Amino acid sequence: MATAASRFERMAQALVRRASGVRWLRAVVLSPIVARPGYWFATLCGLVWGTVLSLGRIRPQGGVIVARKCPRWAFGRGGTTIGAVFITNSSLSPDILAHEAVHRAQWKRYGLALIPLYIAAGRTGATNRFEIEAGLERGGYIS
Ligand SMILES: [Zn+2]
Repeated sequence: MATAASRFERMAQALVRRASGVRWLRAVVLSPIVARPGYWFATLCGLVWGTVLSLGRIRPQGGVIVARKCPRWAFGRGGTTIGAVFITNSSLSPDILAHEAVHRAQWKRYGLALIPLYIAAGRTGATNRFEIEAGLERGGYIS
């Protein structure tokens, strides 16, 4: 069931709408020269976040770097991918890892612009275009 957009989502939607209307800004923000360092920075943040909070080993698995056994408050839903790093506390299935690997690719493509873009796409997984692209079934949104 779709929920009304929160104030935070509406702010992100307004930001994305305005920024994407400015052609040169859109081209600069989404160029690999800007987006890729944003991905690296996000990965660094994910590694720091995961290193501080994880009680398990941090290791590459299934196309992402997994930080397991993180406290439940440290991520959204079943886990959150920040850059290349998947922050979670649960056991990992190949489907979940494949889903998160798509999110990693999204971070690579959009860099830090993924943050407002993702928020603007809405918190309802079934209608969020980034979750749809990553696969709703693999991500556990539908069974
Ligand atoms: Zn997802």
